[in-house]
Amino acid sequence: MGGDSRLSDAPPARLLKADDHELVAGVIAGQRRALAKAITLIESSRADHQTRANGLLRALLPHTGKALRIGISGVPGVGKSTFIEALGLLLITQGKRVAVLAVDPSSTRSGGSILGDKTRMERLSQRDAAFIRPSPSSGALGGVTEKTREALLVCEAAGFDVVIVETVGVGQSETAVAGMTDVFVLLQLPNAGDDLQAIKKGIVELADIVVFNKADIDPLAAATAMAQMRAAISLLRPTSANWQPPVLKVSAAKNEGIAEFWQSIEAHRAALAATGELAKKRQHQNLDWMWQMIDSGLQSRFRQHPGVRAALPQLMDAVEAGAVTPAAAALQLLGCLSHDYETPNYD
Ligand code: GDP
Repeated sequence: MGGDSRLSDAPPARLLKADDHELVAGVIAGQRRALAKAITLIESSRADHQTRANGLLRALLPHTGKALRIGISGVPGVGKSTFIEALGLLLITQGKRVAVLAVDPSSTRSGGSILGDKTRMERLSQRDAAFIRPSPSSGALGGVTEKTREALLVCEAAGFDVVIVETVGVGQSETAVAGMTDVFVLLQLPNAGDDLQAIKKGIVELADIVVFNKADIDPLAAATAMAQMRAAISLLRPTSANWQPPVLKVSAAKNEGIAEFWQSIEAHRAALAATGELAKKRQHQNLDWMWQMIDSGLQSRFRQHPGVRAALPQLMDAVEAGAVTPAAAALQLLGCLSHDYETPNYD
């Protein structure tokens, strides 16, 4: 196929096989199958797949960056999928294309994903303008997070206008999702217990917008919860000098308040874009990402190193027995890595 002409503005992608040139062209053309295949490649833990995925990402990078990236968090049952479906359907009526990705820390433990349930967002998933991908279900949270970041870039290259990354309210994954999105939304239930949990876990501090869902069940309770949340937020350091996090109420099931929520998203983007803060935020996120990759890359290189693997069991025994100090063992093991490189100059 004549995909090469479309890639003329891409950087040289020497790692790409012929098949992958087609895959890149397919993603850029917004083909759903190519998109799904590219993400599967990214999620694979096979070394050859990872090499291909890296080549793919490099070729796709010039086509990324144009989507609005929204993080959405909330405890199971708060109504995330109902809310995202209502929002997605609204955005599609505005002519937008919407991708939904998930970071689900429970999937890394159980191998099954509570966010990956196929029956979720059934109406949205049937729409051509929507793409829904459950959380990758293997690896540590760090690995899942990294794969979701990469999947987000692939969705952007495929021309999605809005990429939503959802996660469940357990703390660590919220920080990760807030670190890969432009705007972070906390979905809350209108009862004080839920508020307290979110405040205690530090999730409210990350929120650019707080939304109380299920306001239809008890409007009075919703109003009280909103007032309490506003009071709590006023005591926190704002996420941005140019933005005071609004507290909204919606009823996702009744499709109420969704358009107002979208106005808040647009207002947030406008406020951050006007001051250049959005670009800076993404720059910081990229640097953080780079360091996380370096940390995890060093870890895995260390653990796979033949010298480390050979010396590790004995040294572990020796440390346990008190025959070698932990510091001496660590230095000896780390030394295995430095033999692989030119002698570094630390001056
Ligand atoms: P998730 O686990 O956060 O994705 O939550 P779901 O979207 O699956 O919603 C959990 C339950 O709450 C479902 O039975 C929904 O129908 C219901 N629900 C979601 N939004 C609302 C709402 O605004 N009002 C009411 N009354 N129920 C809702």
